[in-house]
Amino acid sequence: MPISPSELRVAIVGSGPAGFYAAEALQKAAGGIRIDLFDRLPTPFGLVRGGVAPDHPKIKSVTRVFDRIAAQPGFRFLGHVRLGEDVTVTELRDRYDVLIVAVGAETDHTLDIPGEHLAGSHAATEFVGWFNGHPDYVESVFDLSQTAAAIVGIGNVAMDVARILAKDPDHLATTDIADHALRALRGSRVTTIHLLTRRGPVQAACTTPELRELGELEGVDVVVDRRDLELDPASAEQLARSDDRTPAKNLEVLREWAERKPGGAPRRVVIHFNVSPVELTGTHRVAGVELVRNRLEADPRGSVRAVATGEKHHLAAGLVFRSVGYRGIPLAGLPFDERRGVIPNLGGRVVEEPGSTTVIPGLYVCGWIKRGPQGVIGTNKSCATDTVAQLLADAAAGSMHQVREILPSIDELLSGRGVAVTSWGDWLLLDRAEQERGSAAGRPREKVTSVVEMLEIIQARRTG
Ligand code: NAP
Repeated sequence: MPISPSELRVAIVGSGPAGFYAAEALQKAAGGIRIDLFDRLPTPFGLVRGGVAPDHPKIKSVTRVFDRIAAQPGFRFLGHVRLGEDVTVTELRDRYDVLIVAVGAETDHTLDIPGEHLAGSHAATEFVGWFNGHPDYVESVFDLSQTAAAIVGIGNVAMDVARILAKDPDHLATTDIADHALRALRGSRVTTIHLLTRRGPVQAACTTPELRELGELEGVDVVVDRRDLELDPASAEQLARSDDRTPAKNLEVLREWAERKPGGAPRRVVIHFNVSPVELTGTHRVAGVELVRNRLEADPRGSVRAVATGEKHHLAAGLVFRSVGYRGIPLAGLPFDERRGVIPNLGGRVVEEPGSTTVIPGLYVCGWIKRGPQGVIGTNKSCATDTVAQLLADAAAGSMHQVREILPSIDELLSGRGVAVTSWGDWLLLDRAEQERGSAAGRPREKVTSVVEMLEIIQARRTG
């Protein structure tokens, strides 16, 4: 039987941009639609809170859009509920007509080279979580007594890591950077930050505003070797036929930097193109990176690939961050595509296994766990809208079974298990507490970084 959108009961797991945009698309289809948005943390917003760099407040202001979505009738936030631990996929599917999984990509890719597990070698995502006060990373320790750090990769995450390491901490002191990170960065001795890029400037994954920002930092010289900007035939051809203006604009910025004379600034960011790390050296901890020089050639799929030349050299660095992309993790009760690190799906409809065309009725994905870790926040809006369009078509076609009333309800089930669920109202209490703590120091907020403390503050403010 067809189901009208307003009759649907929807669970969305993951309250980052993809989850919120899915809720918005559903609300547009049916005002008042019943949506329960779950998150494993007591706080909402996913990577907008735990991933976007603290010195990018404009990007974070998207939370105002999410606030409006949360204020719609029928919407509930159920924070501090861990899928697979506090509630299973089956228990959710028994209680909701629709389950949309929007959990993002929780881990990162590794380089798989010797020495990667030495002390001083980190995932960039760990550093990002740490400076953003994500509860999972508060215990992380980065040896900022080192003078040289290397970052592998040249995506926007690499830009964020380089900028936070290079920036004068006084310029971070008015942001919502985690207190522990600000304290540690104030004592940092890192003066040289190497960006290690396996291909050339035309293939740089970062966007131009983020790249340009590096060159605008006070007290920082950006060093680019102009020989690295001479294009090989494959890159020149790629640039010529690119519809995207980003490579040309990036090249323009890099060429300008290559002409600059180093100004003797206290810190410098050195960009190395066409190099791949083959080993992290050191005995007990990282001492440097063994690099192989690459040459670039056209690959049969129309891209440009790096091929190792065998020419090696060593770069001293006591801290190494691999910034080579996020990766989704498998979730109990859901299929997983190990190769791509996503939940296998056809346009957002989850299928039984990678390569299968058999969809699982009522089960959908959006965001990075659907399409992989690419795109900016806004990309998730079209991604979620596409998924919701499939979902609405399935509801209209009657290919979605409607659940019967199951007892106990989700609220009874969670409270029976002693799960301290946080509501949207609770988040607003915590939000206010963080803002009050921050305002004394002229900061937008001082983040609470421990889940226990979050729950204590919420409890105290609920009763007080
Ligand atoms: P990304 O954009 O995919 O960049 C990954 C980088 O790692 C690329 O330079 C890639 O080089 C390199 N890489 C991958 N495997 C490698 C290997 N084995 N050895 C050496 N290098 C390797 O990923 P990201 O930086 O994690 O960002 C994820 C997404 O979030 C992106 O869409 C990004 O734009 C977005 N984001 C946006 C912002 C912002 O808007 N301010 C901030 C942060 C993140 P190849 O190109 O050669 O593969």
